[in-house]
Amino acid sequence: MFYNKSIKDIYSELNTSENGLTLEQAEKLYTDVGPNEIVEGKKKSKLLKFFNQFKDMMIVILIIVDIAMFIYGLLYTHEYTDSIVITTVVLINAIMGFIQEEKAEVTLDGLKKYVSSTCKVKRNGNIEVIDTKLLVPGDYIILEAGEKVPADARIVFESNLLVDESPLTGESNPVGKRIDKLNGNNKLQIQDQANMIFSGTNITNGRVEAIVTATGMYTELGKIAVSLNTPYEIKTPLELRIEEISKKLTFLVFIILIFIFVYSFIKKYEVMEIIMLCASLAVAVIPEGLPAVITISLSNGAGALAKKKTIVRQMTAVETLGSTDVICSDKTGTITQNKMTVQKNIVLNDEWLKYIKVLCNDSIYTKGKYIGDPTETCMLDEVGVKDSEAIRHICPRLIDAPFDSDRKMMSTINVIDGKTYILVKGSLDSLMKKCSHIYENGKKKKLTKAMQLVINEEEAKMATEALRVIAFAYKEIKKVPKTSAAVLKEEKDLTFVGLTGMIDPPRPGVKESVLTARNAGIRTIMITGDSLPTATAIAKRVCIIEDSKEAILGSELDKYMDEELIEVVNKYSVYARVSPTHKERIVRALQSQGKVVAMTGDGVNDAPAIKDAHVGIGMGITGTEVTKNVADVILLDDSFSTIVTAIEEGRRIFANIRNNVIYSLSSNFGELFTILIAMFTGTTILLPIHILFIDLVTDSIPSICLSFEPSEKGIMDKPPRGIDKPMFTPFAISNIVASAFVETVAVVITFFTVKNSYSVEVAMSCALLTLVIQEIVYSIACRNLKQFVFKQGIFANKQLNIGLLIIFVVEAIFFLTPLRTFIGVVEVPIPLMLMIIVCNLVAFFVYEILKPILIGLFED
Ligand code: ADP
Ligand code: MG
Repeated sequence: MFYNKSIKDIYSELNTSENGLTLEQAEKLYTDVGPNEIVEGKKKSKLLKFFNQFKDMMIVILIIVDIAMFIYGLLYTHEYTDSIVITTVVLINAIMGFIQEEKAEVTLDGLKKYVSSTCKVKRNGNIEVIDTKLLVPGDYIILEAGEKVPADARIVFESNLLVDESPLTGESNPVGKRIDKLNGNNKLQIQDQANMIFSGTNITNGRVEAIVTATGMYTELGKIAVSLNTPYEIKTPLELRIEEISKKLTFLVFIILIFIFVYSFIKKYEVMEIIMLCASLAVAVIPEGLPAVITISLSNGAGALAKKKTIVRQMTAVETLGSTDVICSDKTGTITQNKMTVQKNIVLNDEWLKYIKVLCNDSIYTKGKYIGDPTETCMLDEVGVKDSEAIRHICPRLIDAPFDSDRKMMSTINVIDGKTYILVKGSLDSLMKKCSHIYENGKKKKLTKAMQLVINEEEAKMATEALRVIAFAYKEIKKVPKTSAAVLKEEKDLTFVGLTGMIDPPRPGVKESVLTARNAGIRTIMITGDSLPTATAIAKRVCIIEDSKEAILGSELDKYMDEELIEVVNKYSVYARVSPTHKERIVRALQSQGKVVAMTGDGVNDAPAIKDAHVGIGMGITGTEVTKNVADVILLDDSFSTIVTAIEEGRRIFANIRNNVIYSLSSNFGELFTILIAMFTGTTILLPIHILFIDLVTDSIPSICLSFEPSEKGIMDKPPRGIDKPMFTPFAISNIVASAFVETVAVVITFFTVKNSYSVEVAMSCALLTLVIQEIVYSIACRNLKQFVFKQGIFANKQLNIGLLIIFVVEAIFFLTPLRTFIGVVEVPIPLMLMIIVCNLVAFFVYEILKPILIGLFED
């Protein structure tokens, strides 16, 4: 218990001080205590996961059929090969599903580590930024609004602090904290330990300095041993849709089974024949491999996105990204570089301007680099590190009111030459309202309207040059405020001392990305806290708008009701001086028109808007933990261009998954048609085991490889797909039916032709071989159903090339060696085999020619 001790006792108990631990202490403690990590709570046990694979309705049907065959064998034939093979296949299928699920999970877990969290810590008296994993008890940590508390810690200093403790206590309102020791020897509840902050909670306002008291599993959070990050469990809409399809197909199986029963009853079939028929059908229609293929495609997609600097936190994002209609992007750091350089100053009082720049500034310079907000570090850089340090040394800060993006100001109380002052900096429009005096020709005078206009004009001039403008003011005060809230009250009757304009150039490539997006029917909207002219100037440079009329102040939005806002958001693409609540309204107005909205955000107040957006985008570098935690994807480089790349990737992934589903289902329907024809002609063309072999061996490898297909040329020349558009458009269905038809014709012709001169067994084996080759050929066509494969590049999909090579070897083994008995195949004369292979390769051209025909006939 640490809350009932004084700060001094805490220091001595944990062997630390206001300078933090020494490096040696920290190192030793780290080896003793271990990393500051929550080891995830109980995961689903592996055994349970394995058995989950059998839960599937489709698999259940297979098992029932299997048992029926076994019982029949037991009673009459004493032949068990088929039921043994089906059992093996069901088992293999479960094992495959299990492995793929595990693999997908490992991929996602791996992605998590890209986004490590860091925090400011004081060691040896120096402030540095370290990975929160390296924190140890006794560390002196410094946290600001938007940061996640990385460990349990006892507060030694706080300013305007509010903490969202809902992850631990369920209390949804942020709570304030204090620093003095609490009484009570009985253990206080977490929510009553008002001088402590706890791992897993979020700082929503202000600043805090605290001594770490517990890390990792020793924290309150660790004790509950639950992970707060469980977004991966949720199924994506796509996965749900696929499950839906599977259910429908299972239903179809039932109907066909009933039909077959009636039919075979009339025809007086033998029991064994009926069982075999039903078994074949169930196996044929049910797409056993499909759910696993979707999961693996999505996780491959997440892996591909990670290579393009986008980390997926929610699998759903992989799908939604591709259908994005509007990107709402921050300006600073996303569209611009967030590398500020002071370009221009309007100096009314040289000395005070310098004081405020240095003292009302949280950034620091240590170990050769600046730590802090670029808006502030550039001022430190302008004044010079040496001078700044000297000034800070003789003018200590007593208390402050941190910057917040609603107020757009920040204040500190400092002692300068024995007197106490409030130093304020912020946006000109916020600050001017708080000023009563101004310097003119070196003298302090009353601020007049005329002077205000002059200043505003100066600001406007800077802003049209795309400069970000900060204004400065101060006042002498008599009584030192005790709390941050009291500091805010002193922000009045200030004396205005100058303006600074800093340039934050657009990132290279943003303009091109905005144009790419536009070409792809995606609109870009810029949302910023910066001033209207600055935002307009930057937006014009990167081609977001052409006319200043397309830019609007956030405050204007307050005039409109939600319904009216729809019209407004369609008209304006730049929103300036925006507060976080405006962001939420903009997202909703866009969404109410059915638009898919991607929204970026970095500040703590952006979390609700990010949550609301279809694709909430967090910032890997400048983003706060709070926003990263609610984001669906995180950009490792914060760059706008990465968003556009990710959208392209999302489109590719979705297109590939759809091709994949079409591929899988086409073989299922081909098998179904074949079986029905066989039934009506009173023969058997394919055995259940044949069908299982196709579905689980021949089909599954190309299926997975299809998800690696590179994106089609011109994928960003088309408008977004529309999120509600069904996967099975008439075009998709026509593809399934047409290819199933081609396959069936090939198989049936082969079967009956061969049967004329060879035994039925040989004819059956040849039918299987035909289907195998057809599937291989069709998988190549399925790489892109709208373009000829040579346009994609014949060998462009390396994974598929390798996959087909593997299949080739597998088929050779099964058709050419005694292993053939396992899949119910007999020896086929080599010349016959070669002829079948050559004939079926011709199907490639059939599939290619079908493409333009189907595109012409059916709507997609
Ligand atoms: P954005 O991130 O969209 O550029 P911010 O909310 O950071 O917008 O900034 C809005 C305005 O607040 C800026 O134009 C500037 O005038 C002011 N401002 C920004 N950062 C600070 C700061 N650290 N201290 C005081 N004022 C600031
Ligand atoms: Mg900012």
